[in-house]
Amino acid sequence: MERESEVKKSDIDLLRSIIDASKRIVFFGGAGVSTESGIPDFRSAEGLYAEKEEGAEPEMILSKSFFYLQPEAFFRFYRKHMLFPDAKPNAAHRYLYELEKRDKLRGIVTQNIDGLHKMAGNIRVYELHGNVHENYCMECNASYSMEDLLRTEGIPRCECGGVIRPNVVLYGEPLEKYVCIGARREITNADTLIVAGTSLSVEPAASFIEDFRGKHLVLINREPTPADEKAELVIRGDVAEVFSLL
Ligand SMILES: [Zn+2]
Repeated sequence: MERESEVKKSDIDLLRSIIDASKRIVFFGGAGVSTESGIPDFRSAEGLYAEKEEGAEPEMILSKSFFYLQPEAFFRFYRKHMLFPDAKPNAAHRYLYELEKRDKLRGIVTQNIDGLHKMAGNIRVYELHGNVHENYCMECNASYSMEDLLRTEGIPRCECGGVIRPNVVLYGEPLEKYVCIGARREITNADTLIVAGTSLSVEPAASFIEDFRGKHLVLINREPTPADEKAELVIRGDVAEVFSLL
């Protein structure tokens, strides 16, 4: 069934003129950026539905304490629900890569762990919650790819015997300090901030946006967000669709 686009042409025209007029754009993205690439938001109703299988909510399974106390269950869940080896960048990722090449994009700040912005070719990416493609041995720091991890069973182990863990920030763990500093610096110095695919309900997302003092704030999301009233332009719709129309 073909879905009628909800996105207004006048909104796309305004977004295009904002981008043309900007020199230091920062993109702040959440789960909605990657849904078109086939990566579900695990916080969504659909995500939660499947996830009673380990006897705990996803937020509990993906916590630091669960990882240490029940590593086998953690990795069972993680392999099944957090890894999407076939996912590819979509129209939004590709457009942002073009913007970086044109030297208009200062950086991408993302809450996503899928690594798709780097896969699209972007260099200045601040992955607040880490990246599933980066894994390391907790004993010797040897690095492993997502494919390496998928080839293992049970608790993945390094040649040295140490446990291999994803470079992903678990619930109960602090964000990486230098990633946060870099992300906040880019947002503070941006002339345009495009916030997309996030309800801004997860901290520190909401507080990061407070740093912005540039000219143009744009919000692209299916649902309303607390920052909508401050924005110059609010587009209700699918992120990948909006970028495919630009
Ligand atoms: Zn090792």
